[in-house]
Amino acid sequence: GYDDTRGDYYLIQNDHIHYRYEILCVLGKGSFGQVAKCLDHKTNRIVALKIIRNKKRFEKQGMVEVKVLDKLRKEDEDDKYNLVHMLDYFQFRGHLCFTFELLGNNLYEWLKSGGFRGVNLEVCRNFSAQMLHCLNLLKEVKIIHCDLKPENVLLCDVANKQPQSKDTHRGERGYSATHNPSDFDGPEYKIKIIDFGSSCYESEKIYTYVQSRFYRSPEVILGISYSSAIDMWSLGCILVELYTGYPLFPGENEHEQLLCIMEIFGLPSMNLVDRGTRKKTYFDSNGTVKLVVNSKGKKRKPGSKSLSSILKNCDPLFIDFIEKCLEWDPEKRMTPLGALRHDWIKEYHSNKYMQQQFFSEKKMPTSANFVSYRESKGSFP
Ligand code: ADP
Ligand code: MG
Repeated sequence: GYDDTRGDYYLIQNDHIHYRYEILCVLGKGSFGQVAKCLDHKTNRIVALKIIRNKKRFEKQGMVEVKVLDKLRKEDEDDKYNLVHMLDYFQFRGHLCFTFELLGNNLYEWLKSGGFRGVNLEVCRNFSAQMLHCLNLLKEVKIIHCDLKPENVLLCDVANKQPQSKDTHRGERGYSATHNPSDFDGPEYKIKIIDFGSSCYESEKIYTYVQSRFYRSPEVILGISYSSAIDMWSLGCILVELYTGYPLFPGENEHEQLLCIMEIFGLPSMNLVDRGTRKKTYFDSNGTVKLVVNSKGKKRKPGSKSLSSILKNCDPLFIDFIEKCLEWDPEKRMTPLGALRHDWIKEYHSNKYMQQQFFSEKKMPTSANFVSYRESKGSFP
């Protein structure tokens, strides 16, 4: 059984949920609740069950998660947009629950299993294109994910989707992929974005403060109204982390987070800063940035580090791509559509092998008309 001292989590034991789902093991635990691997006795399928804490705040956000997941599964009936599919949702003993297709390790666990050595540029590009398919759809349907980070991107493992007897699953992780040198041979993984537990419609933003700190965009830090551009910021951070193995901006707190960004990209324009409600937190009355010392005694100075030194000798197209994701001004930041058209990604689309991987069933458009495929639904300018 799973023991927890916080009373509002559902205690996971050798239990049947909803007279149907037999809990096999815990897959993960986050701020919103727990995720367990379960055997669905009705379909004889292994699923992931997310059980939301039964506290008002989490319930309420859980309902938004249901609404978003329901919309997304309708938008992605062919399972093409690299996002997790909700199978069902219900209330059980006061807890909101969802079931999902079972996926594998999250990218943080995966990087960790590789000793934080990072992955090669082909894998980064493969993952980038897959995440962009999802972000492009999200932008089109006006949903902001608001919590993109390696923990919320999962490897897929088709083998685990087959019905299997519960004994072979008990106590195991959904997917045991470890990241070893053969991973460097080339792109071979499919990934999906999960955790719409912080997401919102652009028109229905509840919180002014979103995203996990390392992946938090400057507009959120500065207190400027945010948009789907915050997800592109997080994407840029994730890609560098995949490549190097380490977070690009490992701020210990909010203030240092902003200084980490400035350390590489220098000072933002005062026009941008002036739009933020939190200007006074980070700048003195002369408009000079306040520097702080972190727990290691380090004082980060604006403009003292370069992105190319962090990404040593890598493809200049990748550096350009990252710089465009990490543009200070959300209005000028690259959009998912712009990113799919960027030369670093475009090349990738023209690779036949990759098209087979991601656009399995039907004949899929080639690089040049991939974008128009979504545009044909009519919501792009
Ligand atoms: P939270 O909102 O609490 O962060 P998540 O939906 O991100 O909850 O799930 C927490 C963790 O559980 C994830 O980081 C992942 O490791 C695991 N997990 C979530 N969904 C699945 C799934 N469909 N298959 C396998 N593991 C999952
Ligand atoms: Mg999560």
